[in-house]
Amino acid sequence: MATQRGESVNSVLKEKGQKKKELRGFNLKQLLDHILNQFHRLQSRSLDQICDLIKAKKNWSDYVHEIWNSNFLETTNFPFANEISPGCWEVSQTHDFSCSCHTVTLSDPDVYGIPTCSCPLFKSCLIPCPGICTIFGRISDALFDAKNLHPRWRLSGDPYIQMRYRD
Ligand SMILES: [Zn+2]
Repeated sequence: MATQRGESVNSVLKEKGQKKKELRGFNLKQLLDHILNQFHRLQSRSLDQICDLIKAKKNWSDYVHEIWNSNFLETTNFPFANEISPGCWEVSQTHDFSCSCHTVTLSDPDVYGIPTCSCPLFKSCLIPCPGICTIFGRISDALFDAKNLHPRWRLSGDPYIQMRYRD
């Protein structure tokens, strides 16, 4: 029996061409199916999470809120702010503005009218950075409002939701 099985495996291994190609194709197909299943499962889980957030009347995800809130808590490190032109502020850790790492535009016409900043942190994630949070603290305007968030992060602008409620 063992010899027969061994021979059968050997004969498969020895086969060149068509059989080998079939086996290789089958494995890739299995891999593709597996990856697609994973993708659809994640997609459906994300949609469930987004729907839960909307039902809870949230305007952005917990992920965004964590970053935004942590940037807000950082504002204590930026006590110096100076309005360099109407609606444009520089924010610094030092009183002489030698380290002015945030240049904030309160309502940027090029980016949906949201507050923007020159710093890499804002540019990389488009979530209000410590500089933007500092200025909102200065001008006493409501910081945690969807209008201050890039549409990318607003749940009302989520492509899943738009697809679901489009028809
Ligand atoms: Zn910034």
